[in-house]
Amino acid sequence: MKLLFMGVQGSGKGTQAKIMSVKLGIPHISTGDLLRGAESLLKKEIDSYITSGKLVPDELMLRVLQDRLSLNDCMRGFILDGYPRNMVQAKKLDEITSIDKVIEIVISDSEALVRAIYRVTCGKCGEGHNIKTNPPKRAGVCDKCNGILTKRADDNEPAMRKRIETYHKETEPILLHYKSVEINGEQKIDRVTRDILAVLGIKS
Ligand code: AMP
Repeated sequence: MKLLFMGVQGSGKGTQAKIMSVKLGIPHISTGDLLRGAESLLKKEIDSYITSGKLVPDELMLRVLQDRLSLNDCMRGFILDGYPRNMVQAKKLDEITSIDKVIEIVISDSEALVRAIYRVTCGKCGEGHNIKTNPPKRAGVCDKCNGILTKRADDNEPAMRKRIETYHKETEPILLHYKSVEINGEQKIDRVTRDILAVLGIKS
């Protein structure tokens, strides 16, 4: 099954993609994680886009994505999180593969802002915590793997406002292109998972 999880930053699409990846046995591919983990001469250039909340150029993004999709673990499908972000990327994706279902996890802009500002992420396993609504048991330490929790450079208010604006302007038109299904993201995590499973026709 090839799935796209869409949603404004902080909507919980990464969290849900991780859960569904385990349930369905297909990889979760976050383009943000791919770019943050990129070890190359382009790293400095990539980081400058990410830190200011701007999109990385389409050509560069497509190269990184194609490399990842060519790995064997994607043969049975994948969950894409963070791609496509604009119509150019959506059309490129349509050229290289066909997507079975597009799910949008919907939250308000004000909720997105609060979630990102209080978000901390584990440098080791990538698990996200919210220091307000889902604080770790030990401050600064990941509950899952004891890794160090840090704030992402782009989880600050100016960068976040820019990312929300870009989502509405450039990413939302894609939802019409794919006839996506909306899920209410302002519910408990397990409720959101249940709704996604229902859309996919899978028993929870
Ligand atoms: P995310 O973790 O999905 O919030 O992505 C973090 C940052 O990575 C974004 O603000 C962009 O700078 C970059 N990025 C992630 N996915 C894409 C994409 N599909 N196209 C361009 N830039 C991207």
